[in-house]
Amino acid sequence: MSAGCSRRSAGGWPGGHTQKGHVAAIQNAWLVQKSGNGRARPQKSLASAAAVAPTIVARIVLSQSPALFQEAAQADRTMLPFFFDFRLLIWIAPAIVLALWAQWRVKSAFAAASRLPAPLSGAAAARHILDSAGASNVQVESVGGSLTDHYDPSTKVLRLSQDVYGAKSLAAVGIAAHEAGHALQDAEKSSLMAVRNAAVGVANFGSGLGIIVFMIGLAMALQPLAWLGIILFGGTVFFQLVNLPLEIDASNRAKAQLVALGIVPEADMPAVNSVLNAAAWTYVAATLQSILTLLYYASYLSGGSDD
Ligand SMILES: [Zn+2]
Repeated sequence: MSAGCSRRSAGGWPGGHTQKGHVAAIQNAWLVQKSGNGRARPQKSLASAAAVAPTIVARIVLSQSPALFQEAAQADRTMLPFFFDFRLLIWIAPAIVLALWAQWRVKSAFAAASRLPAPLSGAAAARHILDSAGASNVQVESVGGSLTDHYDPSTKVLRLSQDVYGAKSLAAVGIAAHEAGHALQDAEKSSLMAVRNAAVGVANFGSGLGIIVFMIGLAMALQPLAWLGIILFGGTVFFQLVNLPLEIDASNRAKAQLVALGIVPEADMPAVNSVLNAAAWTYVAATLQSILTLLYYASYLSGGSDD
């Protein structure tokens, strides 16, 4: 699962570099217009904005795949087109370092816990937890790919990746139990879950559109439009602020259920805990990164950055 996270992140970074030139051009146009001699610039600026568009579209497409731990990676992708400014890179460096550390922790903890046996497979553990809580209507299915584990609230289906579905390991039951935790949040009609489900579409839509609107506002020196873009992008931050407590709650439920139902002996829980705790840190890092990015662009537009 961590392989998936790091692959997605690694895929995002080079994309950021390619945008550097385009966005620098857009920024220059913005600054030229601010200083009042940019009459010939709009054409160039729009061309630059158009050059950024393919990456924006790619990002929107990428952000459509639902999955468990990739929600954090999804947040990384959200930042992708914003990765053009070196000062931004410095500004969000703490979040990036935290994200890299957390992803490394997830990877190593998952590998270690995968070698430790559990009495049930991931699928059987999820089934047991769901049935014990009266959520027998939730289906458990296998799904292709790595780290693609997720609960789909619209169809009430819990999908587990190959490494989790049939594997009888502490890592597998830990992740399966986390997903079952999401299903139980849904079954209990958690209001936070309802807000999250409503916000996920808004966040995907808002972050993509927000970036486009921001770029256009910058390119055309229309500051209110750029602000609108930032506000739309704020939908992503909102989503992550709602999502974070749900992720932590799902893991807390998982830890409690695995022990209460006798799936994992108390003595074996540290290995499960290390996987789930590391995953929680990836969400913290993603949330921090989006907040810092939002603050950076807000301060950029409000005149904090002037060169
Ligand atoms: Zn989750």
